[in-house]
Amino acid sequence: MKVQGNVIIRRMLQCEKCGEIFSKDFNRCPKCRSTRFSGYTVVNPVARLPIESILRVMAHLMWMFGTAACLFLLWQTDSPDTDRNLLLMLAGFAALGASVIVSVALFGMSEMMYRIVRIQLRLRAFFEDQQKQDK
Ligand SMILES: [Zn+2]
Repeated sequence: MKVQGNVIIRRMLQCEKCGEIFSKDFNRCPKCRSTRFSGYTVVNPVARLPIESILRVMAHLMWMFGTAACLFLLWQTDSPDTDRNLLLMLAGFAALGASVIVSVALFGMSEMMYRIVRIQLRLRAFFEDQQKQDK
């Protein structure tokens, strides 16, 4: 059994006598006891919403938005009032800093989701293998 992205690829065996498909952990067909079988690969595409990709897109949008806001606020610092200019500059860099922090958090969440999903897929494939053997 292998996990490639969202797809579980499991190597199974097919009996040449009765056509039964079974796990490669069996050394003979569980149905007819034949020892003649060929390699067989089952691919399970797992359909689901790619949340980690959505989080990654949101993270990119966040830092881009923060950079745009910072540039916009810095652009406004041309008034004769120095205090106002300073405040706008501070606001600009605060917006940039906040957006970078949020974007890093989103990237982290996306990475965590990706890892959790991989573990779930592995566990599911493992338990399905176990159930097949119990039968
Ligand atoms: Zn068989």
